[in-house]
Amino acid sequence: MTTIILKPHKEESVLRFHPWVFSGAIARIVLDATHRAAAPEEGELVCVQSADEKVLGAGHWQVGSIAVRLLAFGDERISGTEDEWIRGLLLKRIAAAYRMRQRLGLLREDNNTYRLIHGEGDMLPGLVVDVYGSTAVVQAHSVGMHLCRKEIAEAITEEVKEITAVYYKSDDTLPFKAPIEGDKTGWLIAQPINLEIPESPDNPAPEEYGAKENGIDVRIDWLRGQKTGFFIDQRENRALVERYAAGKDVLNMFCYTGGFSLYALRGGAKSVHSVDVSQKAIDLVNANVERNFPKCTNHKAVTADAFDYLSEQRAQGHQYDLIILDPPAFAKHRDAVKNALRGYQRINAKAIEMIRPGGILFTFSCSQAVDKEAFRLAVFSAAAQTGRKVRILHQLHQPQDHPINIYHPEGEYLKGLVLYVE
Ligand code: SAH
Repeated sequence: MTTIILKPHKEESVLRFHPWVFSGAIARIVLDATHRAAAPEEGELVCVQSADEKVLGAGHWQVGSIAVRLLAFGDERISGTEDEWIRGLLLKRIAAAYRMRQRLGLLREDNNTYRLIHGEGDMLPGLVVDVYGSTAVVQAHSVGMHLCRKEIAEAITEEVKEITAVYYKSDDTLPFKAPIEGDKTGWLIAQPINLEIPESPDNPAPEEYGAKENGIDVRIDWLRGQKTGFFIDQRENRALVERYAAGKDVLNMFCYTGGFSLYALRGGAKSVHSVDVSQKAIDLVNANVERNFPKCTNHKAVTADAFDYLSEQRAQGHQYDLIILDPPAFAKHRDAVKNALRGYQRINAKAIEMIRPGGILFTFSCSQAVDKEAFRLAVFSAAAQTGRKVRILHQLHQPQDHPINIYHPEGEYLKGLVLYVE
């Protein structure tokens, strides 16, 4: 196996279990004798050593500023062949992740939707696995994880007996410059439906496979949907919306498949408006409402740009009692943070202006590059711009199946504020 030797003192963060080795920390690379290329290949398993050649851990080699994503530290040394070792490690990590979700009470008859593996938070950097009933959707964020996708699928079905199908969906998440062999999407295990024959009750379309979240039926289209098909990370925050929704006129902005809208309807909202720029998302919102509340007459879904919608509604003097703002990540990289903060300020100011006195705003940012303080400052600026009196009721974050490895604070990405607007 190729060995990566670090510069003096660069082992310190690894000894504190930080799972990334940056390229600047590397002194030299000792290639495996069988190596044909002049450098490790992207995705290859490498061993990391300190300057005095003590083994620190093993991980996947990457091209870029993060050179190694560590899967194991000193005490989990490689034994047997590389294939045996990676299989054993996947089984161990997936079993531990599953046990944690079970202990946390996430797997119930009324809740079979949860994140099984959250990258560094479950000590498998580069891997995300979301579970919808008997189907797991796997997303690789590194070439290393792409290369072991079959082993991942096997380990999932071995450790989690209720999972019988595994879909791979990595077209948007793999580093786009990397040389990728093999399909980035497709069934890894047991395609549960035959897409070649017409749909029927015995062969329903993928989105007919209902998953349950806190008793709500959600249609998940993992073949065509965004991310793994659903935003599981808002589950607890949706439940909080349900608690505040009774009797209110609710606007769910950036609604995607309508998660927050369904909880607001169940919570007894007077009316719910769901808005998203994607027509496909709006079709799924309508299907989800129809499925859960077939007699519902107080829901309206609109395909529109958020900024335009808020401006138009304001011009017509429309107001809401409860607004949810859950935009896509405005900053995907550090260099986009400034613009992102301006975007958050603008959209939040528009929303605060449209809240009736005594109303509530749920506002979120899922940009990892924008930290809690910066986001709060952007919302503060928005509030100040409107001149309304605003109080913070709750500070929200990602749920327990999206854990943050304490040694990897970069894993914190979702933050939200619940505001009371006088
Ligand atoms: N709240 C959702 C997740 C939101 S994801 C949930 O609970 O599931 C962000 C959504 O914003 C996506 O569905 C995307 O289509 C939508 N979107 C992106 N840009 C938009 C814009 N300018 N106006 C309205 N919607 C937009």
